[in-house]
Amino acid sequence: MEASKSGATPEASHARSIVFVGPDRSPYFVTESTRLPITLAKGQVLVLIEAATICGSDLHTLSGRRTIPHPCVLGHEGCGVVVASEREEVNVGERVTWGMCTSCNNCLPCSLGLQNKCSSLHKVGHTVVSTAPLFGTYSTHILCLPGTPVVPLPPALTPRLAAPINCALATMVNALSKLPPTPSPGQPGASVALVQGAGMLGMYAVALLKEAGYKKVFCVDVKWSRLGSVTKFGATPVHADQEEELIESNSVDAVFEVSGNKQVLPQGMRALRNGGTYVLVGLVHPDSHMDITAQAIILKCLTVVGVHNYTAQHLKEAVSFLNRHHESYPFDTLLGPSYPLSDFRNAVEVARSGQFFRVVINPQQ
Ligand SMILES: [Zn+2]
Ligand SMILES: [Zn+2]
Repeated sequence: MEASKSGATPEASHARSIVFVGPDRSPYFVTESTRLPITLAKGQVLVLIEAATICGSDLHTLSGRRTIPHPCVLGHEGCGVVVASEREEVNVGERVTWGMCTSCNNCLPCSLGLQNKCSSLHKVGHTVVSTAPLFGTYSTHILCLPGTPVVPLPPALTPRLAAPINCALATMVNALSKLPPTPSPGQPGASVALVQGAGMLGMYAVALLKEAGYKKVFCVDVKWSRLGSVTKFGATPVHADQEEELIESNSVDAVFEVSGNKQVLPQGMRALRNGGTYVLVGLVHPDSHMDITAQAIILKCLTVVGVHNYTAQHLKEAVSFLNRHHESYPFDTLLGPSYPLSDFRNAVEVARSGQFFRVVINPQQ
C-alpha cells in the first residue's frame, strides 16, 4: 500500500468475499479470494469490514425474485475501519460507513441532486466484479471508488448498530425529506403518520417520524409477531385486519409504504387527509400495480412520491440521527446473531426465517 496517504499496509494480502454467480447456478454463490490492491488510485478508500447486515433485497436476489448484474460481491449494508486511503478527508484507522450509490457529481441527475440516479452509477453489492472487484459487504474488505460517499462514524455507534445505516436508515431519511416540515409547537399542521410495514425500514420510520414531531404514529403489519416491536418504538401497533376500525378515514397527514405489498395501497389512500403525502418506498418490484384511481389522488389533492436509495447528504443525516437517538429506541433488539462469512448459507437461512429484522455478518470472525 506504498502510495496510500498514510503509508499503512493492510495486514492481509487477500480479501475473502461472497460472490453471487446467478440464480440459475448451483450453488448460486461462491466464496472467492481476491488480492488486495498494492496501491490505491486517487479517490479510492480500502475498508476492513467489521459488520454487514443482510438486507431483504439480498434475500430476493438469492431467491431469484430480483435480478442484478453478476458475478458480483453481494451485500450493501455494513461498516468498517479504513486501512488505506487515497482521499484527503478520509483517514486510516477511522470507522466509517459508505454510500450505496457511487456517482460522478457532473451529469444531469447529479446536478439535480439525484446522485442516486447518476447516469454512470455504480452501486455497492450490485456491480460486476470485472468493474469493481471488491464492492460488496459480504467480504472482509470493500474498496470504495472515487465518488463513493465515505462518512465517519461516531465512537458511540457499535459496528452492528451502524451496519444498517447505509441502506435502511439512509433510505428512510430520504423518505422523511419528502414530507412538508412539521409545524412549530402550538401551530396547526401535520401530526399523524401511518407506517405500512413493521420491518427494519418501518422501525426506523417510526423513530424518524416521532423525532420529527409527529405526535401519533400508527404502524400496520400482517404479522402479529412484528407488532411487539412497534410498541417498543413508541408507535401504535395495528394489525392489518383492524386497520379500518383503528385508523379513521381522512385522518392521517403522511403515509410511508415500506411493506412491499401492493395490497396496502387502498388503505393508505383511505387514511390520508386532504393534502396529505404518500411516500412509496418498499414496492420496488414489478408486482406493484396500484389499485387506486387518479380521481382519488386528485380529489384529496394528495402528493404521491417515490423514494429509491438516497444521497450522501441523507447518509450523513442518518449517521447523525442514530448517534443522537441510539439510546432512545431499542435499535439493538432488531439485530440477530452474528455469523462468519464461512457460515453465510446458514446466516441466509436464519434471515429468511424472519425471526430477526436483520442478521449480522462479521467477516473478521
Ligand atoms: Zn438494502
Ligand atoms: Zn452523475
